[in-house]
Amino acid sequence: MKYFSTNDVNRRTGFRQAVIKGLPNDNGLFFPERIPRPSILTSLEGADLHEIAFEILREYTKEDISSSRLTDITTEVLSFSIPLVQVEQNIHALELFHGPTMAFKDVGARYLARMIRDLSDDRLTVLVATSGDTGSAVANGFFGVDGIDVIILYPSGKISDIQEKQLTTLGGNVRALEVDGVFDDCQRLVKEAFLDQDLNKEIALTSANSINIMRWIPQSIYYAWGLSQLRTSDEVVAVVPSGNFGNLAAGVLAAKMGLPISSFVAATNANHVVPDYLKSGEYKPQPSTATISNAMDVGDPSNFPRLLALYGNDYKAMKNNIEGYWQEDDATRSTIERCMRNNNYLLDPHGAIAFEAATRIRQSEKQYMFMHTAHPAKFKGVIDDVLGSDLEIPERLAESLAKEKKSTPIAVDYLAFKEIILG
Ligand SMILES: *Cc1c(COP(=O)(O)O)cnc(C)c1O
Repeated sequence: MKYFSTNDVNRRTGFRQAVIKGLPNDNGLFFPERIPRPSILTSLEGADLHEIAFEILREYTKEDISSSRLTDITTEVLSFSIPLVQVEQNIHALELFHGPTMAFKDVGARYLARMIRDLSDDRLTVLVATSGDTGSAVANGFFGVDGIDVIILYPSGKISDIQEKQLTTLGGNVRALEVDGVFDDCQRLVKEAFLDQDLNKEIALTSANSINIMRWIPQSIYYAWGLSQLRTSDEVVAVVPSGNFGNLAAGVLAAKMGLPISSFVAATNANHVVPDYLKSGEYKPQPSTATISNAMDVGDPSNFPRLLALYGNDYKAMKNNIEGYWQEDDATRSTIERCMRNNNYLLDPHGAIAFEAATRIRQSEKQYMFMHTAHPAKFKGVIDDVLGSDLEIPERLAESLAKEKKSTPIAVDYLAFKEIILG
């Protein structure tokens, strides 16, 4: 399998190069030259998670990763459960938060870290901008991996205490930069570093954002695993709380690979560029707005070109297959409260938006599978406010909370950032 750039379909790159580089030189995104159709996706009966993962990833990786390595890596990565839980009539939560950092990005980040370790001979620096959960998933995925340095940029004061502690307390090969700006500033600094030819001569850089194909493609696994647990012959709609749209694009990729998901819902908060696009056909990036579902505070989603590519750059095709939904924070608080009262099921602020979208569009003959992307305890402040509760913090999170934060404050200043990378 080769990968082309969404900006230049004629230039192809092999798997190894695409993973190590992260981004093509022309500022596009890597995209597979063809979409495989693994037969397991149309006969999920009795399939287990590791089998599904192997069959999906094999096609994308086989030039550079042997089948026995892929099996081992898959066993290491998917060492936790991903249960599907019925919340209400026809509405099911795929709980993606049982991994080490308790948010769904663990799956992609862990695959990426292990594949990079296998593929690279050079010392590598991983750069990652985070709006919350990416940083901790990536930091955790790469922590202690030999020959790899990790630099994480996060917007000061805009992520939760737990998220901040998760990425600033590891130490070792992981360094956290606290940026005096918003997430988009962090993302811009990272993009600039990748385009800086000078810098790239000095040092081997790679990206661990959801733009890396090994962060992105493995996410298609859990859609298949969700369906295999759902065991239904009804039409299935996947509802995805979205920020950079890597997760949703992976769901669409799974459907294009043959997985029977009939349509998607793109659920967002006040950062609703994509729902607006679906309505108007015009893509208008915005500065990001801070919300209580902060992992979705993205004003110019980096995976948007990939989403378009999945629909052959055809607006109508996308519009026919993806419905947009968004709501403000107050509505999200009400959703959390109502779902607890009616169903005794606790939602995090991201999953809550997807759940609300599902309840609003629900039709009795369809099944709705929404991605429950973070453990509610990661957003204890919001949840306790809404429910008047005092949520217990799972041990895994309490351990990070007890440690002291170590971060380097920086301004939104590319030269200062470059010095840190080189230093
Ligand atoms: C990252 C994240 C999202 C958004 O996922 P994208 O792939 O960027 O669209 C949603 N919820 C949580 C909890 C996240 O961490």
